Amino acid sequence: MDRKEQTDGDEQRVRARQVRRQLAVATRMLVDAGILNYSGHLSARGPSAGLFYIQPVDDSRASLRPERVLLVSLDGEVVEGEGKPPSELAIHAELYRARSDLGAVAHFHHDPTTMFTMVEDAAIVPVKNHASRWADGVPVHPDPSHIATAAQGRALAGTLGGAGAALLRGHGEVVVAEDVLTLFADVVHFVENADALARAMQLGRVRPLDRAECDRFLVTFQRDRHARKLWKYHTSVALASGSVLPEWLDAETAPAAGDTRAAALEGSR
Ligand SMILES: [Zn+2]
Repeated sequence: MDRKEQTDGDEQRVRARQVRRQLAVATRMLVDAGILNYSGHLSARGPSAGLFYIQPVDDSRASLRPERVLLVSLDGEVVEGEGKPPSELAIHAELYRARSDLGAVAHFHHDPTTMFTMVEDAAIVPVKNHASRWADGVPVHPDPSHIATAAQGRALAGTLGGAGAALLRGHGEVVVAEDVLTLFADVVHFVENADALARAMQLGRVRPLDRAECDRFLVTFQRDRHARKLWKYHTSVALASGSVLPEWLDAETAPAAGDTRAAALEGSR
C-alpha cells in the first residue's frame, strides 16, 4: 500500500466514524424533540454511492450508539456492523438510488405533522421563513402501507420527485438533504412549520408565504451555516441533559469549552 492509499483509507475511517456519530447524535436529539420515538430512522450516504449508514432495527432511538450504526448496501445487505436494518429500509435505499444529490434521509411518524394527510384541503404550505425550502409544495404519497419492498420504495421516490420532503398518507414523513447536519435542521424546521400552520389554521384564514417571499428569504439564507448553528444549540442542550456524550461531537460543531450549560452543570456538582 503506498502512502496515498494509506491516507485515503485513514480519511475514509475518520469520515465513517464522524457520520456514525452524527447519526447517533441526531437520532437522540430528535427523540428529545419528540419527533422520533420507538420508530423512525435517519440514514446517511456511505463511502460509495451504493452504500449507506442506518441504525439496526432493534436498537432504541433514545440510546443509539455510534458504533452500532450499520453500513448496508442499496439491496439491504449488511456490509459492516451487527444486527438487521429497519424493515422500512427500502425508503432510504430507493431514495438514494433515485436521487444522486441526496446525502441523508429521515423517515419518521410524527402525528401532528402526518395530520395534514388526514384532512381535506389541508396542504402543508410555508408559513415560517425557514420552510421556504418547501415552497414548491410537499407531495403526499397516496399509499398508507408500510414501505416494505423495493417496488414500494420506488413508488415513494416517484412521489417525492425532486422535492425536499414528502408526507405518506396516514403514515409519516420523509425529509431529504445533503448531509446529516442539514437533514437535522430540515426535520426540525419541517415539523416547526407544520405545527405553526396547524395553530394558525385555528386562528383564521392562513396567509402562506408566497413564492417571491420565499425566494427573497433564500437569497440571503446561508443553509450550511444555519444548520451548524442549530446543531450547536441542540448539542449543547443534549450535552447538558446527558443525552449525548462529548466525545461524539466534532470540535468544529461542539459548543465551546466553558461555554455550555453542560459545563455549568458540571461545575455546580
Ligand atoms: Zn414508516
